[in-house]
Amino acid sequence: MNLYDSRMTILENLLPQAVPTEQIKLKIQHNLTKIENFKLREKRDGNSTKITKEIIRKECKGYRAKKKRVATLYECKGCDASPGYCTACFSNVHS
Ligand SMILES: [Zn+2]
Ligand SMILES: [Zn+2]
Repeated sequence: MNLYDSRMTILENLLPQAVPTEQIKLKIQHNLTKIENFKLREKRDGNSTKITKEIIRKECKGYRAKKKRVATLYECKGCDASPGYCTACFSNVHS
């Protein structure tokens, strides 16, 4: 009989219950997600009018801290008030 193997099997069976579910819920996930808010905009093209979707951009919070105004299509819902971030600033702030 192989003792090591049977111990590993027991560990694997216990693992899913080792982490309390409450701990997972409390952990804030920071993800860069695409902004879903949009407005409809009428665009005149000759005689016809096209209605286009325009995503409401946010100002990048990382650049704002550097006194620069940069619009981004992404936001972090894990942060307070889900601020906008560009990919570069997001990784800077969250790493
Ligand atoms: Zn965040
Ligand atoms: Zn940025």
